[in-house]
Amino acid sequence: MYSDTRKLIVFSAPSGSGKTTIVRHLLNDTDLPLAFSISATTRKPRPGEVDGKDYYFLSVEAFKERIADDAFVEWEEVYEGVFYGTLKTEIERIWNAHKAVVFDIDVEGGISIKQFFKEKALTVFVQPPSIEDLRNRLESRNTESHEQLEVRVNKASQELQKSTEFDTILINDQLEKALHEAEQIVAQFLSS
Ligand code: ADP
Ligand code: 5GP
Repeated sequence: MYSDTRKLIVFSAPSGSGKTTIVRHLLNDTDLPLAFSISATTRKPRPGEVDGKDYYFLSVEAFKERIADDAFVEWEEVYEGVFYGTLKTEIERIWNAHKAVVFDIDVEGGISIKQFFKEKALTVFVQPPSIEDLRNRLESRNTESHEQLEVRVNKASQELQKSTEFDTILINDQLEKALHEAEQIVAQFLSS
């Protein structure tokens, strides 16, 4: 049905906007030919996270070695001392399996992927209804300390201003509606 799956779809947003929820839905509940780009990170795994499934968890030293080897398409120090990046080998792995690559990465990372892959990439900015909603979602997710949560909320205000640099903005207010819209956006891009 989809002739060319050597494409990339990037979901970026401030932390807490709902991109992980949306990406999981696309991967688990639809027939779209997608596979998740597993990023490398130096942060510690959260309970339930699995190395090689959610992230490749690396030490800072190992991460920096890969930077020196030019192994990343893009990498960012997303929070002070905490690195995240997309390995080139990850994209080839997924394309070789005849799937399109789906990303859940921060806003700067999304913009970098677009610059690197141009029209092969579709960038989707997931926008929360408001910063207050975002804060409430992060509080209910309950995965960050109070201090980490404040860092994420403060960063979000700056990131929201970058939404216009994306191909599409997806407003995540009512989750069911956002999930359906995400499916349509991806199906249309893969058919183009
Ligand atoms: P991100 O990956 O962008 O950090 P998550 O997908 O982890 O965000 O979502 C943050 C929290 O908000 C999660 O607990 C999730 O269940 C919840 N959430 C996601 N979308 C909605 C929505 N539309 N309304 C209410 N809560 C939501
Ligand atoms: P978390 O710690 O909540 O899993 O992710 C923190 C932030 O890092 C999120 O905004 C997430 O999207 C982003 N992120 C995850 N992987 C990558 C990546 O490979 N590159 C970049 N630039 N950001 C990433």
